[in-house]
Amino acid sequence: GGTAMPAGRYAPSPSGDLHVGNLRTAVLAWLFARTTDRAFFIRMEDLDRTAVGSDRGQLADLAALGLDWDPPVIYQSHRLASYRSVIDGLRDQGRTFECFCTRREILEAPSAPHAPQGAYPGTCRDLTEAERADRRRSRPPAIRIRADVDHFTVDDILHGPYTAMVDDFVIQRNDGTPAYNLAVVVDDAAQGVDQVVRGGDLLSSAPRQAYLAALLGHRQPTYAHVPMVLNDNRIRLSKRDGAVTLTDLAENGVSAAQVLSHIAQSLWLAEDGESVDLAALAERFQPDALPKEPWILTDAEWR
Ligand code: GLU
Repeated sequence: GGTAMPAGRYAPSPSGDLHVGNLRTAVLAWLFARTTDRAFFIRMEDLDRTAVGSDRGQLADLAALGLDWDPPVIYQSHRLASYRSVIDGLRDQGRTFECFCTRREILEAPSAPHAPQGAYPGTCRDLTEAERADRRRSRPPAIRIRADVDHFTVDDILHGPYTAMVDDFVIQRNDGTPAYNLAVVVDDAAQGVDQVVRGGDLLSSAPRQAYLAALLGHRQPTYAHVPMVLNDNRIRLSKRDGAVTLTDLAENGVSAAQVLSHIAQSLWLAEDGESVDLAALAERFQPDALPKEPWILTDAEWR
């Protein structure tokens, strides 16, 4: 409903420990929300690839950095009925269709006339009932949105107006699981999230999500897609990159407070070697003054 307090959020996937890149995004999401008098929520995106207990480890690590959040922590796996009713509502309005395509069929299909590069080719958009019945015998369908635009523009605090392709994207996978793009939109609206801060790798998904929000009658959130953290090979940081979680770093004698200070330095919010806490960061925080380039993290960072 429109009465919820405006909110920001951090939405990790509980598939293991958070690494420094995830933690840095969480710090930024907290700073954006708390310096604009917003509630701040944590949402566990556990519709797939979860590791048992990693949600609790992630919350403990966020707390160790000094972050606080508003209850409740929501779990997408507990919200299937909400996603279902939104998907059913879109279907009842004729806004969806069943899609039986394999990934390979999509790649090999000739693209629809005027369709943007990489768009769903439209193979299943206009199947007859008889064709659908036939195809259902070989594969359960995914559900796609019947998009009536091919581009959509979002407003991003760091990138400005950003336009990208919107096609007939999947809102429910063919194993029956709601798609990430659907769940994000439903959850953000349900909690009054009007500020979405997350990694820059998701920028190209934002127009699809904003289009879906518009279809569902929700207000457009403001976005801030923040720079990623890369390893010395200029590849997105991952857990394989050695000591990059609070647990690993603690074993190497680096405390959570030190990690926070390094993150602050990488955001140009602290001098080299300066120790800072979140309260100090909140005072210094200015979205326009954030670095726009990725942070290249090397082992030397911790020495
Ligand atoms: N769960 C996603 C991730 O960990 C973030 C999704 C979002 O913030 O919208 O990358």
